[in-house]
Amino acid sequence: MQYNEVLVGLKTYEAGKPIELVVREFGIEAKDIMKLASNENPRGSSPLVIEAIKQEAGKAHLYPDDSYYELKDALAKKYALQSANIIIGAGSDQIISFALHAKANNKSAILMARTTFAMYEIYGKQTGATILKTESHEHDLNELYDLYQKNTNIAVIFLCLPNNPLGECLDTKDVYDFLDKIDKNTLVVIDGAYQEYAAYKDKNKAIDVQNLIEKYENVIYLGTFSKAYGLGGMRCGYGIANAGMIHELHKLRSPFNITTLSLKAAIIALSDQEFVQSSIALNFEQMKRYEAFAKQNGFDFIQSYTNFITLRYPQTQNATQIATMLLKKGIIIRDLASYGLNALRVTIGTSEQNTRFFETYTNHSRQ
Ligand SMILES: *Cc1c(COP(=O)(O)O)cnc(C)c1O
Repeated sequence: MQYNEVLVGLKTYEAGKPIELVVREFGIEAKDIMKLASNENPRGSSPLVIEAIKQEAGKAHLYPDDSYYELKDALAKKYALQSANIIIGAGSDQIISFALHAKANNKSAILMARTTFAMYEIYGKQTGATILKTESHEHDLNELYDLYQKNTNIAVIFLCLPNNPLGECLDTKDVYDFLDKIDKNTLVVIDGAYQEYAAYKDKNKAIDVQNLIEKYENVIYLGTFSKAYGLGGMRCGYGIANAGMIHELHKLRSPFNITTLSLKAAIIALSDQEFVQSSIALNFEQMKRYEAFAKQNGFDFIQSYTNFITLRYPQTQNATQIATMLLKKGIIIRDLASYGLNALRVTIGTSEQNTRFFETYTNHSRQ
């Protein structure tokens, strides 16, 4: 069978190792496995959400309200916008795909930082487009602008603020200066999957979404319930842009693209801001322990504005070996070797989880 030629150059996305796989490969009991690899909320979901999902379980046979009226209305209030500015997706992943399919084809190019969210490239290639990346691993607006000027066929630009998997975040005023120079026919995707964390840590990184999309008709902002809101398993995210763009993106959405239970979970999660804010506070409190640990153990880290920290190793230490050692002890983290980096990305866990990480790490290094 011959498949669509865009599939030839495509690799399947390798998600963080699921717990079940480690159980099978290393014979470790599931209860002894600790996953700090997918940037999930280590506290779980809000208790209010869990209760609401239980109550909603009897509606599993019903399709959700496909207008997602209640969720859009709640999001519209949160961002001081209209429901017409919002599209809901099965994770913000799905909106990335919609945005690319709305703009790119085999004649276009898609621009991004060298080391950023892998799905931009995968969905990008599905459209047949060429992928352009900067030399620097982290976002560099000068380099991005340089590439933008040299290539006239750029259909979509991605800015991940803060960036996964490195954790750095551009200042909003620099992003605005960059956007001022971009043609209105080029779509700029601002991925705010971890924006709640950045806004908490540093006002200079916070994005006023209402202002952003009113100022730039060619920008779409993406948010998700998978990270700070603790709903990774429910698959719910959203895109915010001017009503005209949202109208076009809806042509690509299949009906009932999120589930009845996800819809309920997202609505309740949004109402429990206390849970979100306390999760974020805990995250940055615990992150300090990783920074101190890195200093004590002679490796570097990237200043993080999100819920993970990227540890960078000198040549004398091999990050992949460390990741393998931890995996054998039941600790799953993310090795960044596939990005050409001698580095590890660790999701900040609960206090107990982080203590286990440090102890396991230290005991091994002494062996
Ligand atoms: C997690 C993540 C997303 C979206 O995840 P969904 O679960 O699909 O909402 C988007 N962008 C980045 C950078 C992420 O890390």
